[in-house]
Amino acid sequence: MAELMEYKCPCCGGKMEFDSSLQKMKCPFCDTEFEVETLKSYDEVLKSSEAAPDEMTWQETPRDEWSGEEADGMSVYVCNSCGGEIVCDETTAATHCPFCGNPVIMTGRLKGALRPDYVIPFQLDKEAAKAAFARHLKGKTLLPKAFKTDHHIDEIKGVYVPFWLFDTDSNAQITYRATKVRVWSDSRYNYTDTRHYSVTRGGSVRFEHIPVDGCSKIPNDLTESLEPFDFTKAVDFQTAYLSGYLADKYDVNDEQCVTRANERVRKSTESEFQSTVTGYQSVRPESVNIQLTNSKAKYALFPVWLMTTTWNGQHYLFAMNGQTGKFVGNLPCDMSIYFKWLACITGGVCAALVLLCYLIWLL
Ligand SMILES: [Zn+2]
Ligand SMILES: [Zn+2]
Repeated sequence: MAELMEYKCPCCGGKMEFDSSLQKMKCPFCDTEFEVETLKSYDEVLKSSEAAPDEMTWQETPRDEWSGEEADGMSVYVCNSCGGEIVCDETTAATHCPFCGNPVIMTGRLKGALRPDYVIPFQLDKEAAKAAFARHLKGKTLLPKAFKTDHHIDEIKGVYVPFWLFDTDSNAQITYRATKVRVWSDSRYNYTDTRHYSVTRGGSVRFEHIPVDGCSKIPNDLTESLEPFDFTKAVDFQTAYLSGYLADKYDVNDEQCVTRANERVRKSTESEFQSTVTGYQSVRPESVNIQLTNSKAKYALFPVWLMTTTWNGQHYLFAMNGQTGKFVGNLPCDMSIYFKWLACITGGVCAALVLLCYLIWLL
């Protein structure tokens, strides 16, 4: 049986949770507060339980080891407080007991090589997520009126989403074909002078903490639209930050995510280099040679508020960056308003064209 961890309040024995507004551990029963740092000793056990090298390269990191009873899908834990059975899927690393509501952390999923390197603690609470949702609905002309009044928030949950953070050096040699064009005329001729240039740029760029989410349950476009996360606020991982939230262990490993990271690095290198080729009328890359070296992957948990709503039998998923408050998610679109709106615009354009023709005809 994998172990569960709870943080007991030394005053009343209640279960302490991480409070995002205080950035401290707080007992919801007697309001006792603690610095997260003071609970560091709990994590020393997890660190030493399996030798985890400080830095791992993604070529040689077998992070996917499972203990026997966790290998097949669902796992069962027994709550330390009420003895109830907690059933969760194989990626859950922190949750609440469904019977007594106490926050519990599955330490087996945070041990050794499964232990995250960093965590960005939640900065915004559930109320902030609700308020952001209300703001998200405001001023949306195409949103069906009934959605605003009838939608029903099924669930709001604070989730630490697993991310891989990639560091790499990008060494690039890029040659561009560029042109400068000069046009002039005299009384007899028009002249065009086109000069062709071969422009070369070479150099290296260091990329740090390129995030790629390691969780297959949340769509990638949703997590990418939540970026950026401010990595300067990240701290060394401590399980205490998870208390009171949900957390997932990655289910997509660093090797599977590296292609996405490399793609982003290449694109950024290309656009960064091209931005230095200025003063030409046209610039076109002719040969691009980008080598990525010194690549390393780190494992981090980022805070996300996930919200699901139901309206007209359809489910909608919204997400808020738990650090910056950036809110994303698609809303339903009222097609009748949409067509009216389209008709107004096309009508307007037609009227303008008719007026223009009329003016030309007058001339
Ligand atoms: Zn207490
Ligand atoms: Zn319980």
